Amino acid sequence: MQQEITFKETFSPLTSDELVAKEKANMDEKRFKHCIGVSETSRKLARLNNYDEDKAALAGFIHDYAKQISNERFIEAIKTQGFDQDLLNYNRAIWHGIVGTYFIKKELGITDKEILTAIWRHTTADVEMTTLDKIVFVADFIEPGRDFPGVDEARKVAFNNLDDGVGFELAHTLDFLVTNRQKIYPKTFDAYNVWSVKK
Ligand code: GDP
Ligand code: FE
Ligand code: FE
Repeated sequence: MQQEITFKETFSPLTSDELVAKEKANMDEKRFKHCIGVSETSRKLARLNNYDEDKAALAGFIHDYAKQISNERFIEAIKTQGFDQDLLNYNRAIWHGIVGTYFIKKELGITDKEILTAIWRHTTADVEMTTLDKIVFVADFIEPGRDFPGVDEARKVAFNNLDDGVGFELAHTLDFLVTNRQKIYPKTFDAYNVWSVKK
């Protein structure tokens, strides 16, 4: 079953159909479905937090545009497009958001700063987060396709208060990374100290 999705504005020279086709061509079916879920949840969170619903839906839809781009292409972009070379010490989990913004600008023609920043921050979060940053970060974690122990609690917290949703997610992610002895991107720690520590 083909899921229909259209955007009133693409924030790019592309039509909605062109943008959807490019997104679809850049990832497998499962990832595409996740992106539709994040788009719908971003719209819902935008409505609850008085943010532009169409803009949030678009940002959510393209947040993982670069998720399946090759390591070679990421490394080439990091080396030649002015990125912090420290990124080379991390992996594609971190690259697909930060470096993904380069591919989104180049291939989808999106220049809107707010959208690009939300995508940049969607995996690691940051000490400063705009409303759109928080919406995409949280929607990614709680979209209907997510199924992990604690997801129902995450949904409850996030729909009740967006900032608390950010804090819950960062604590959960750090817990997971430490348990699995994964390397942690310093921004993730910094963000945890701002959003997750009990007041
Ligand atoms: P996805 O792209 O929809 O799968 O979700 P995300 O972009 O939020 O996360 C991608 C992966 O990066 C997840 O498995 C996270 O646990 C992981 N991740 C988040 N922060 C960090 C970090 O600081 N270091 C590492 N190594 N992985 C992280
Ligand atoms: Fe992602
Ligand atoms: Fe995602």
